[in-house]
Amino acid sequence: MHDFRFVGNKLFCEGVSVGSLAKKFGTPLYVYSQHTLTDHFQKLDRALAPLDHLVCFAMKSNSNLSVLRVLANLGSGFDIVSAGELQRVIAAGGDPCKCVFAGVGKTVAEIEFALKAGVYSFNVESEPELQRINQVAAKLKKIAPIAVRINPNVAAKTHAKITTGTYENKFGIAFEEIEGVYARAAKLKNLRLRGVQMHIGSQITETTPFELAVKKVLPLVTRLKAKYALEFFSIGGGLGIVYDPMLASGDPAWWQTAAAKNILTPQKYADRLMPLLKPPGLKILLEPGRFISGNAGILVTRVEYVKRTGKKNFVIVDAAMNDLIRPAFYDAYHEIVPLTKKGGATLKSDVVGPICESSDSFCKDRPLPKVGEGDHLALLSAGAYGFVMASTYNARPLAAEVLVNGKKFAVCRERQPVKEIWAGEKVVAWLK
Ligand SMILES: *Cc1c(COP(=O)(O)O)cnc(C)c1O
Repeated sequence: MHDFRFVGNKLFCEGVSVGSLAKKFGTPLYVYSQHTLTDHFQKLDRALAPLDHLVCFAMKSNSNLSVLRVLANLGSGFDIVSAGELQRVIAAGGDPCKCVFAGVGKTVAEIEFALKAGVYSFNVESEPELQRINQVAAKLKKIAPIAVRINPNVAAKTHAKITTGTYENKFGIAFEEIEGVYARAAKLKNLRLRGVQMHIGSQITETTPFELAVKKVLPLVTRLKAKYALEFFSIGGGLGIVYDPMLASGDPAWWQTAAAKNILTPQKYADRLMPLLKPPGLKILLEPGRFISGNAGILVTRVEYVKRTGKKNFVIVDAAMNDLIRPAFYDAYHEIVPLTKKGGATLKSDVVGPICESSDSFCKDRPLPKVGEGDHLALLSAGAYGFVMASTYNARPLAAEVLVNGKKFAVCRERQPVKEIWAGEKVVAWLK
C-alpha cells in the first residue's frame, strides 16, 4: 500500500495535493512519501521480529539524504555498493557499523575507506577480492569482516537484466566452490569470516524462488557456521512490488482481486522463510531496496504538446528517459495518471519525452484520459531506480525532489542549475 491517492478528483501524496507541489516547484519533479517509506520498512521489520535480524536498505534504489535519514531514524542499516554510497550514509547521519558493502569491483581506495569507517561486512564476490581486502587490512593493521556471496544458481523468475543468482551472471561465487573458498579465506590473517550472503535478483513477486534458494544453501550455511563461527546470513533483497494499475493508483478494490491473493507481502515472506531461517541461529540480514522505496515515490511531469499523427496520439511531456530510464532500459511498466482526474473517453496514447532517441518513451498505445498542454501527469511507483539512475543527457538538469510528511513538504534536492552540468568542464588552453 502507499500514500498516493485521489481525494475527489485530485491526486494527493499523504495530506498534500501533488498539483500544488508541481505549481510551487516546477516539473519534472520527484515526490516521495515519508509515511510510505516508514510503513514499508516497519512491515518488513515487524514481520521478522521473531528473528534476530537487521534490515539493510539497498540504497542504490534511492539514495536521497532525506530518504536515508528517514530509514536511519527507524534503525535501518544500509546495503552499499560504492564508497560514494557510504559517504552518503555518513552525510545522512546513518551508521557505518550497520552497512554491508556489496559489489564485484571494489577498488583499493574503496576498501580502505570502508575499513576505516568500520562497515559491518564486506560481501565478497571473488577470490581475488578476498586477497585484496586481506592485503588492504594488513596495511592498515585492521581485521576486515567479510561474508562470501553465494551464487545459488536458481532462476529468480524475473527480467533477465535483473536476475543475479545464476551461473550466467557475474555475481557471487558458485555454490559448489564456497567451502573451498572459506577454507582458503580462513588462512588469511587479516580477515574475520563474519557471515555468508546471497541475492538472487530483483522484482521477484513470489516467495517460492526465495524459499528454494534458502533451502538449497541452508545445509551449507549451517556447516560454515559450525566451522567458522559465523554470525550472520544475509538473504539479500529483491522483494518485488506491484506496478499494477489499480493498486498503483491506490484503489482499495484491488485488494479484493485474485491478483491480490498471490502478492508477496512481508507477512507471507516471513511466514515461509522464518521456519527455515530460525534453526541455524544466525543473525538474518535482509537487503530490500525497491520494496521499501518503489511505491514511495512518483515522477510528476507537465504535458508540453499533444501530437496526432495518422496512426498515433503522442503526449509529449517535460520528463524524459534521463529522468526515469526504467521503461527504456528494462521495458518497465509505470502507471500514468493525470493529477486531476477528468471523466470522459480514453485515448490510446504514447507518452514520450523530448529526447532525441526513439526509446525515450514511457508507454505505448496506452488508454489514457485525454490531456492537453499544461496538464500534469504522474508516473507512479518511481521511487526506486528512478532519480538515482538520472543523467544530464541532452544537457537536461537533474530534476528536483520533494519529501512529504502528512501536511508538511520540503525540497530534499534542489533542481540542478543548468550551468552545474558543465561546471567541471573547460575549453582547453590551446583552443583559446
Ligand atoms: C540491488 C541489490 C539489492 C536490492 O535489490 P531490490 O530488488 O531493490 O530489493 C540487494 N542486495 C544486493 C546485493 C543488490 O545488488
